[in-house]
Amino acid sequence: MNAAETSESVQVSIVVPLYNEQESVGPLVDSITKAVRNIDLSFEIILVDDGSTDRTWTMIESLADAYPGLRGIKFRRNFGQTSAMVAGFEHARGWVIVTLDGDLQNDPADIPILLDKISEGYDIVSGWRKNRQDHFSRVLPSRVANYMISATTGVRLHDYGCSLKAYRSECVKSLNAYGEMHRFFPALASMTGARVTEVEVNHYPRQYGVSKYGFNRIFKVFSDIFAMNLIIKFSSSPLKGFTLCAIPFFFLSVLFALLSVLTVLLGWTPGKGSFFMLASGLCVISVIYLIILGVLGELVVSTSDLTHARLPEISKKEIYIRREMK
Ligand code: UDP
Ligand code: MG
Repeated sequence: MNAAETSESVQVSIVVPLYNEQESVGPLVDSITKAVRNIDLSFEIILVDDGSTDRTWTMIESLADAYPGLRGIKFRRNFGQTSAMVAGFEHARGWVIVTLDGDLQNDPADIPILLDKISEGYDIVSGWRKNRQDHFSRVLPSRVANYMISATTGVRLHDYGCSLKAYRSECVKSLNAYGEMHRFFPALASMTGARVTEVEVNHYPRQYGVSKYGFNRIFKVFSDIFAMNLIIKFSSSPLKGFTLCAIPFFFLSVLFALLSVLTVLLGWTPGKGSFFMLASGLCVISVIYLIILGVLGELVVSTSDLTHARLPEISKKEIYIRREMK
């Protein structure tokens, strides 16, 4: 591994979010270093301490003394895995960013395989834990979620949840990710034109500590799928989306207005006429409300980084990643 000193010399940034992983962080850095030692590229490792309450930060500080290409970022409190990854992206200087979990479940030995794919011209390479070492109760909802994300976004991956991924850095720097959106980076980045592929990777059971997620992750992931689909589908033309929603209310308002006129003409009871009038008025208000939301949506979208990001095509010459085994 060639330790990175200046921003120009860094080609690959390895970003790892860590929350109470004091036992894992040392072995992790060792195995990353071993995995990339023979690759003729300069690497940096960015360890993001997501507000750990154990000795994770102390470990990171002593590792930074031992490894010149290692930098640490510390959050004052726990902000979540997505925020930790985004902070890593912001500080990453490499042309390529690799992410992986800090609990030794991902195998750094797979990093060269991901880099090979990037060198073929892909913008995002996602790991696929084909032989996943987690309990069935975790694997099953994850399969359903992967199927739903693939079907709704059109970016077909077997394993969105795998943290081991490589990105051309431009793909992720423009993503304003929040909440727990890290699982959806490939789908969001595909909006900018990113070419996405996947490779099979190793996966191991957790050796130290405990998973940082409980059963409620299932609900969060499914609500995120809904939110992400809204972002992807509506972000280019919110007014169009809201206008589509307004159309049924428009027709209902016309229908109720006609019915109220009919009640007067046919001499039905006066109560019925005012009911239809009221219903028609409510539908008109809904139409106006939805159109206003669409206009506000347009204003939000016009200032959003995501909708303005367009990945430029990359020439073969620019793909300068070489994997030369010494
Ligand atoms: N993590 C984090 N902040 C959090 C939760 C998790 O930085 O709020 C890190 C965690 O330390 C690990 C990675 O994200 O490096 C994945 O977490 P975990 O292993 O608990 O997830 P699981 O493997 O159970 O999906
Ligand atoms: Mg884990």
